[in-house]
Amino acid sequence: MGSITKKIAVLGSTGSIGRQTLEVVRAFPQRFRIIGLAASKNLDLLAEQVNEFKPRFVYFQEREATSLLNAECDFLPLEEIARHPAVDTVVMATSGASGLLPTIAAIKSGKKVTLANKEALVMAGEIITREAKLKGAQILPVDSEHSAIWQCLEGEKQGAAQIILTASGGPFLHFSPAKLNKVTAKQALQHPSWQMGQKVTIDSATLMNKGLETIEAHWLFDMPFEGIRVLIHPQSVIHSLVEFRDGSVKAQLSYPDMRLPIQYALTYPERLPNPELPRLNWDNLRSLTFEQPDFDKFPCLKLAIEAGRKGGTYPTVLSSADEIAVELFLSGRIRFTDIAHLVERALQQHKSVAQPTLEEILAADTWAREKVSQLASGDSSC
Ligand code: MG
Repeated sequence: MGSITKKIAVLGSTGSIGRQTLEVVRAFPQRFRIIGLAASKNLDLLAEQVNEFKPRFVYFQEREATSLLNAECDFLPLEEIARHPAVDTVVMATSGASGLLPTIAAIKSGKKVTLANKEALVMAGEIITREAKLKGAQILPVDSEHSAIWQCLEGEKQGAAQIILTASGGPFLHFSPAKLNKVTAKQALQHPSWQMGQKVTIDSATLMNKGLETIEAHWLFDMPFEGIRVLIHPQSVIHSLVEFRDGSVKAQLSYPDMRLPIQYALTYPERLPNPELPRLNWDNLRSLTFEQPDFDKFPCLKLAIEAGRKGGTYPTVLSSADEIAVELFLSGRIRFTDIAHLVERALQQHKSVAQPTLEEILAADTWAREKVSQLASGDSSC
């Protein structure tokens, strides 16, 4: 019997998902071998990880800095790690558009891709799902909602009739519009139920995150936008639901901890006991509540669903405009509510390309970044 050790590359190893992936790997040392680690910012942590996991390949954004790693591993660009024959599973844990090209490289090489990066599918869902089919590459979702849907669909002979994506609603769920105008980056970074990276935490507060996840669900589960609804569920215990054609509904529940969906994607189709993972506490759990999302107060959700429906390069512009707007908000240069305004104006001014090539997607990405920067700096020519 051959070894069942999975040979893993973690792209984005120093971010929130990357660190939690390595915690799962640490819990099952016989199951996993880290072949590649890649990071963009945190060199100290990357050096620690390299020391502990001794990967064959490493990537850091500034190449000169790799000399500091002081390890016997080769420097490789992200895409080359993603497609290297020594790797069988690629964990895409980067946030933002930088995840797009490595995801495509991994898919084209027929790897298992455990996908936490949202932007790749949002920007290039059509290309990625087509290539995955062609090359037999598996896309295993790590996002808790998509993991939940995947788990609900397991063992079913027929697909979903409706997908219900749950959303915590973020820290400002019941804020008045006036109060929303004044929220600070510090407030927005305090998520009520999840520990996540900065970009996704701000996206959760604007509900853009749920919009991006709606587009992801459309591609991952081949579901038209009409068949996907968003439901606010502040306790974050039900991670999503699937309704079948006979009206039966399945839900996946668990303590909100990203290590569970990461572990499920890495050990699928097995479930393994992991004492590190907290359990739901049924003695304390009193109620699970639901409400409808407020599309007027959180326009990013509406913008995302519209961009997803229209397709073309609109989802790329949505996602890349948001990435820049979130950076501007975090650096204190725009208000919280300006995030949606900037994304909306970029979408309005964009000339979308239908069924875009990868080059056209990358051009739309660049266009959106420049457009939002111009709009934010008050350039009257735009
Ligand atoms: Mg999620």
